[in-house]
Amino acid sequence: MNYNHFKLAYSLQINLSVRLQRTIKAEITVEGIGLHTGGRSAIRLKPAPKDTGVLFYRRDKNEYIAANVGSVCETSFATTLGLNGAKVRTVEHLLAALAGLGVDNVLVEMEGSEIPILDGSSGKFVEKILAAGVADQPSKRPHMRITKPFVFREGDAEISAFPYGGRRITYQTFYPHRLLGAQQLTAEMEEETFIREIAPARTFGFLKDVQYLRAHGLARGGSLDNAIILSDTGVINPTGLRFKDEFIRHKLLDFIGDLSLIGFPIQGYLTARKTGHASNLRFAAELLAASDCWEITSGAELVIEQPRNIKYA
Ligand SMILES: [Zn+2]
Repeated sequence: MNYNHFKLAYSLQINLSVRLQRTIKAEITVEGIGLHTGGRSAIRLKPAPKDTGVLFYRRDKNEYIAANVGSVCETSFATTLGLNGAKVRTVEHLLAALAGLGVDNVLVEMEGSEIPILDGSSGKFVEKILAAGVADQPSKRPHMRITKPFVFREGDAEISAFPYGGRRITYQTFYPHRLLGAQQLTAEMEEETFIREIAPARTFGFLKDVQYLRAHGLARGGSLDNAIILSDTGVINPTGLRFKDEFIRHKLLDFIGDLSLIGFPIQGYLTARKTGHASNLRFAAELLAASDCWEITSGAELVIEQPRNIKYA
């Protein structure tokens, strides 16, 4: 197995500041195909008052579903939230975009159950949010400060949280595939890094899994337009990859989206290996329950500015 190790390393310019809550400045409509049903889907993002969080509204069922760990109802292949039979599917790429851009409060209205899959990344959501603009709100943003190490293990998956002044994540993947192998990525989570290095990374799948999903009536909307598909020997997509390590970048994107369901940005150092939506979300629930390992504070956050160079080592 080739060990393809790199990290995003910056000359850090850091300062402590109190972050305010944020919402979007204008409504945003996003349309596309739903991954699992294959039907058209459209969502509308609306500005929301302070302390709302991310709130989904199924107009057709007149049901509000809060984006938090308690709303999670399915975790196979994508993250699904639900309440009273009303579901919202494939939330993770939208949630990652909101978390990555520091948008705390937004109402997401939809008629059906699916968030559009778009190109399988968070890129389009980020583009639309940046075009609408992000506005500060007159209230401090609380965050979860890790005060004591917390370790979660489940099968091969392991996720740990350690006290740390900033917001850093190290992610490791291991796949028995020529293009994947063992990879590791470390990133300081700040907006520019997310926009440029993480948000455009697309979801990926293996040809054999696609055949299985289709046979079970899932991923009807899946195509080479919204996923990287790997055969035993390489990438099937004629357009190739956006990053040579696009796979692990997308795993990090999913991790960010899933962990946003904790409801607070995490100040700490997270390390994760071999995780998926199910383990990400069980970690989130167990971390929330381990209240001796963190505190919620509205005090100053360490803010990292001016990313400089990216180093592959
Ligand atoms: Zn994903």
